[in-house]
Amino acid sequence: MESDVEKGEFVAVIVDPLRGRVRPAPSHSDAEIINVLTGLAPARSTAGPPATPTVSTVPVSGWAVLTGAGMSTDSGIPDYRGPDAEPRKPMTIQTFLSHPAQRARYWARSWVGWPRMLRSRPNPGHLTLARLPVSGIITQNVDGLHQAAAEVVDDASPIVDLHGSLDRVICLGCGTLFDRNWVQNRLTEENPHFAKTAGLDTIDPETAPDGDVELEETAHFRVVDCPRCGGILKPDVVYFGDSVPAARVEEANRICDEAGGIVVLGSSLAVLSGLRFVRAAVKASKPVVIVTDGPTRGDELADFRSVSRVADFVGQWARRAAAAGALRRIQGDDERLRV
Ligand SMILES: [Zn+2]
Repeated sequence: MESDVEKGEFVAVIVDPLRGRVRPAPSHSDAEIINVLTGLAPARSTAGPPATPTVSTVPVSGWAVLTGAGMSTDSGIPDYRGPDAEPRKPMTIQTFLSHPAQRARYWARSWVGWPRMLRSRPNPGHLTLARLPVSGIITQNVDGLHQAAAEVVDDASPIVDLHGSLDRVICLGCGTLFDRNWVQNRLTEENPHFAKTAGLDTIDPETAPDGDVELEETAHFRVVDCPRCGGILKPDVVYFGDSVPAARVEEANRICDEAGGIVVLGSSLAVLSGLRFVRAAVKASKPVVIVTDGPTRGDELADFRSVSRVADFVGQWARRAAAAGALRRIQGDDERLRV
């Protein structure tokens, strides 16, 4: 298994990695876990063997945070694997590359869903997390909502989009990056009658986490190629079967290496690209905190486990940090950032 961890930037296709797992009981109360996250209590579970060598505390600034789909559900972006998630087969990179009809299907659904993605806003979980001076935020989400939340605080934590970002499109031929809004306009030009023909309600389509919608009549949708080289355009996100770019893995590793522990918020850790950071923390004898409303692949690795909703938990964490004077200042007087 260790060799898998070393190759962990590869996002494997796993049919149902959580099959047979049940939602675990919380290991401690949220208040006890938050004592650990604010440096008021030792960062190792006291349930361990008496020989546990060092029992030390980690301040707020010592935690690396890994976030997943559960972070963004309150922003109206559905969770792949949460309690209410519909079973769904994600697009693989192989399918995208080898089947023009699948590319047309992807872009048609993405074109319909994009206006709603553009309207999505950071929820209280993103906003309060942005105020916590953690050592860095590594996200598996591709919605840009951590960055949007960070705009309103001073001296924001570094953010790594592990799986890329939907607001960029890349040419697989020449590597040029395009703004997603430009691609949206081009797709609209090429498909002036599509919405009407397909009978779409484009005001509030059902939007999936990767920004597309359920839609079957896509055979006639015209895709757009790179205006420079005619190459295939792909959203600049990591598909299943794809690899996380090495520079991004290095940056995420650096954040985790410098941190005293890791906090997972709203991720089932179903893909190795996220789970590897938890395994690395365990290997380095650093504490692991998992806050996710459902089973995860890292449950047996966690020193502290909460099944609370992410936004509620982060709100409590921020209130405690505020009492200790450890919160970041906000720019202006944004009501949403009150804790
Ligand atoms: Zn190109």
